[in-house]
Amino acid sequence: MEHYQPPAWRRSDPWYALNMAQMTLRRRENVAGDFYVDSTCIDCDLCRQIAPETFTQIGEQSAVHRQPETPGAEFAALKALVTCPTASIGTSRNHSAKAAINAFPELIEDNVYFCGFASESSYGASSYLIVRPEGNVLVDSPRFVRPLARRVADLGGVRFLFLTHRDDVADHKDWASHFGAERIMHYDDMGRAHAGMERVLRGREAVPIDHDLLAIPTPGHTRGHMVLLHRDRFLFTGDHLQWSDARQSLYASRSVCWYSWQEQVRSVERLLDYEFDWVLPGHGRRKGAPAPQMRQYLESCIARLKLIDHS
Ligand code: SF4
Repeated sequence: MEHYQPPAWRRSDPWYALNMAQMTLRRRENVAGDFYVDSTCIDCDLCRQIAPETFTQIGEQSAVHRQPETPGAEFAALKALVTCPTASIGTSRNHSAKAAINAFPELIEDNVYFCGFASESSYGASSYLIVRPEGNVLVDSPRFVRPLARRVADLGGVRFLFLTHRDDVADHKDWASHFGAERIMHYDDMGRAHAGMERVLRGREAVPIDHDLLAIPTPGHTRGHMVLLHRDRFLFTGDHLQWSDARQSLYASRSVCWYSWQEQVRSVERLLDYEFDWVLPGHGRRKGAPAPQMRQYLESCIARLKLIDHS
């Protein structure tokens, strides 16, 4: 059987050299055929978001439920392959992943992009790029790989690296030093790994970063968690708030609330002071809806969260 040969950049990248999907670890839940997921999957959900035609959740991991049958489905599956934080997606045939690699950052709407290339150290969190004439903003850190750094450079580089909280910082040092970016983080989430942050925010009041960027402290998931509001339209929510396709609602997760659930519910409630029509989370699904509809989603979410045990 012919085996997938990674392109030169992957072979020379030490991360990939150590992290290749392995046929011997192929999950038996995959349907037969070219693409597969191996048992190193950490169930981050990104492949299911990027290529739902191909990947689904079986048990507590992903698996291929249908092999790609069209060029579009294959392209999506390859984008999932390059995004997977643990290199758990493999193929038995040889493919060029060049187009999939160059697809990131991928436009979501207007000037906001999804970065792909998730990092295992942030548990496969999504990161985003805001492209602005005044200087771009990277929201949380993707894996630092040269092809993505080149594409980000083509889009104007990075002026600010906004870190929503301590868990999703990944390769922040590499991104900051490569682009001379100013990293922004909340004091209450800082530890030894975050030494050298260029801007440290304190307290519970919202802080304007620029005329179109507002940092809003949202303690709960962690003590120093923040969300970022851009142009009263795009709310980057880290691990504070996300959309669930299954529930068709916004929600916050009690089971991964590390600091204070009571505080987290209060922080979600404070978002009623703002207007936005996109929720762009680190984990979970993103959602776009007209602002009045988004407000209704938020109000219903708060009502449900208040019913959850605070102890
Ligand atoms: S992207 Fe990778 S780690 Fe995440 S769910 Fe898919 S196979 Fe698993």
